[in-house]
Amino acid sequence: MSSLRFEHVDKIYENGFKAVSDFNLNINHGEFVVFVGPSGCGKSTMMRIISGLERLTKGNLFFDDKIVNDKTPRQRGIAMVFQSYALYPHLDVYENMAFGLSLEGFDEDFIEKRVHEIADVLDMRRLLLRRPRELSGGQNQRVAVGRALIRHPNVFLMDEPLSNLDAKNRVTMRSEIIDIHRKVNATTIYVTHDQTEAMTMADKIVVMRDGKIQQVGIPKQLYFHPDNKFVAGFLGEPPMNFVPCIVQNSKLKIEGVQDCVDCPPKFAPLLARFEGKSVTMGFRPESVVYDSDIANSLDVHSSSSISRQGIKLECKIQVSEILGDAINVYVFLGKNAAVLKSLPTKNFVPDQNLKFFVPQDCIYFFETDGDEKTVRV
Ligand code: ATP
Repeated sequence: MSSLRFEHVDKIYENGFKAVSDFNLNINHGEFVVFVGPSGCGKSTMMRIISGLERLTKGNLFFDDKIVNDKTPRQRGIAMVFQSYALYPHLDVYENMAFGLSLEGFDEDFIEKRVHEIADVLDMRRLLLRRPRELSGGQNQRVAVGRALIRHPNVFLMDEPLSNLDAKNRVTMRSEIIDIHRKVNATTIYVTHDQTEAMTMADKIVVMRDGKIQQVGIPKQLYFHPDNKFVAGFLGEPPMNFVPCIVQNSKLKIEGVQDCVDCPPKFAPLLARFEGKSVTMGFRPESVVYDSDIANSLDVHSSSSISRQGIKLECKIQVSEILGDAINVYVFLGKNAAVLKSLPTKNFVPDQNLKFFVPQDCIYFFETDGDEKTVRV
């Protein structure tokens, strides 16, 4: 098992396109790191660079403090699992898992022991004599994982391994992969564009955009302390609401909302800095408090109610969506569309006005010029 270090890695393809820029990252022994980002952000390019299938253009990649820029995939000791399981259809599970070791000339006793070890980790012993077509999608994916694990890889790469599965199987396989990782503790790099997979599986998330790292951190850190608007908007479902505002007399003017909105004293320095300028307010759908009694009794300027300080807002309900365990309420806040989350017990009537409150710790501010800039308070 290896640790990895990327130092100022660039990838420029032959046609001149720069797919990765100044990529710097440390991955520790045994860590489960998820690369996440929208299509085309460079995730697969990074996987190919790590595996040795693609050469980096600039910078260095280290495995345990040794530069591997010129090493072949085999020399690096990489195992990969892809979206397409790429199993041999005419071989059974045992043979699929044993294939690579047989090619390398390991003796039958060793291979049998190793296949059974991995089959136990994956809880697959009873499936060893089945062919891929006799297995479910999730079971096939487990065989692909088993086949990759059988060589004790230094680094385990998984590129969108769950995207061929239906929603239910994806959830099951998510926890299975985490469980397997716990048992074998291989350094794992997992690529996905699915923020839920990233949030639920990762020890550490790397958010990428246009070939650049936007932020690296544990899931909670990225969720609650995003460095910029892109990260804030990428993690979370439904995503964070962004409301463009102009600061007027230390209050927030929201387009289409008649009265300026009062802010708690915590934000005074920020408002002073942005007086007369644009700023984007962000809050997550689940952070709102609806209870109009609570909202009405709040005094946003009272120092005695610090835990209850925040921003009071009023919106117009457009439509609500019952999910079973929750309701998503689609609203207009002035001219801005927003989504609020609620417990399923509440009723939301279209076209009615709805008052809500956002606690101050759940409010973020971003500079409005460009997605990547953030104003932290
Ligand atoms: P997806 O989620 O859609 O798989 P990705 O994040 O994995 O996307 P990459 O496949 O790494 O993205 O591609 C990153 C960028 O590099 C894209 O703009 C892509 O068009 C470009 N690219 C990929 N391979 C090549 C190539 N061989 N030559 C030129 N450009 C390429």
